[in-house]
Amino acid sequence: MLSRAQEARVREVLGDHPPGTIQTYCLEHLAAAAKISPGHLTDLEVFVRSLREHGACQTQYRGICDADAHETDRVVIWGPPAPMAGRPEHGSRAVLKTVDSLMERRTFIGVLSGSLLAAPLAAEAQQAGKIYRIGVLYPGADNSIFRGNFDGFRQALGAAGYVAGRNLAFEVRFGDGHALAPLATELTKLHPDLINAVARPGVLAMHSATSTIPIVALDLESDPVASGFVKTLPRPGGNVTGVFMDFPELAGKWLEIMKMMVPALARVAVLWDPATGSAQLDAARHAAQVLKLSVYPVEARATAELQPALLAALRERPNGMVVLTSPIFNSGRRDIGELAARYCLPTLVPFPGYAADGGLVSYGPDVMTMYAQAATLALKILAGTPPAEIPVERPTRFTLSFTLKTAKALGLTIPPSLLQRADQVIE
Ligand SMILES: [Zn+2]
Repeated sequence: MLSRAQEARVREVLGDHPPGTIQTYCLEHLAAAAKISPGHLTDLEVFVRSLREHGACQTQYRGICDADAHETDRVVIWGPPAPMAGRPEHGSRAVLKTVDSLMERRTFIGVLSGSLLAAPLAAEAQQAGKIYRIGVLYPGADNSIFRGNFDGFRQALGAAGYVAGRNLAFEVRFGDGHALAPLATELTKLHPDLINAVARPGVLAMHSATSTIPIVALDLESDPVASGFVKTLPRPGGNVTGVFMDFPELAGKWLEIMKMMVPALARVAVLWDPATGSAQLDAARHAAQVLKLSVYPVEARATAELQPALLAALRERPNGMVVLTSPIFNSGRRDIGELAARYCLPTLVPFPGYAADGGLVSYGPDVMTMYAQAATLALKILAGTPPAEIPVERPTRFTLSFTLKTAKALGLTIPPSLLQRADQVIE
């Protein structure tokens, strides 16, 4: 990190140019002017990434340095307006939709009404006077993001006549890392009718704790066959079924979207939670090879590790970041968005709420809809079908969302072809 005095000298050099003009520096000349040793160029770059002139990011990766007209790939541009700050295209070909929570709700009601049709059957399957018990193992903290998503599960069960507080009791346990195994054991002792286990750490802990209680997994990170959770996707054969994601395809899409948004994309940081396993990271590495990109994985195991991980990522000088799925990254997506904005790093997060909160771009399954989908599997179990016979499902609804204001601040123009595919474009 630069010292306060070094930072002040950089600000002084950048501020010292005639008003209304644009100055282009390479990092080397900027360092020399601000009396910063060549050994601290990366620190300088990380610091410059956090600076703004007229609200726009000031770095780009190829250009001509004003100092002696040499070409360089480490350029700092200073002065109004930032020349690379492209205007988001509002052309007629781009179909712009403003975010409308109603739209989200409409789709969700669509899912629910499917369950409503099944309601009479499910209601007949219910035993009079019985209180059904559903355990939930969630590797993370209880917060509004979890509750919002879990509403998808709760509401879909409610629509089929299983109402918490009336004939249904939820036993929800939250925990990270080593806390999960004892929590899983605790849940089995409550003899629930089924357990909803979330994400790879939750499914692993639950799967080791019981081979008899039905488990409905909601997991974006595991290959369920390779992990030994199920024998085959159409016929799981044990006590686990659920909704699992097809990640190799998705990792390729994430990188493709980043490449379309950041034409100079060459070095991509990949934020990864090792607790989720390596399947997604492997898929991202493979996709990067095909797209001729270099990937730099950085690890974070908890929300508190997000900032150090991002600073470590910046030292690899990425021009984009892809965040893999993890419950930690979902609940920490606002922190990720703030850090990505502060350090001018175009960042894709798989969870739709990321863009809705002002992040650049998100592409991934709609988690609330996945919970509703998991509820349809739970309903089959409650009606007496063994999980061994309930096929594993894939997420059915994927959402592509952008925030234009964030793209503009990063100096990016979202291509119309991407905008046309977007489900949500936030001004
Ligand atoms: Zn230079």
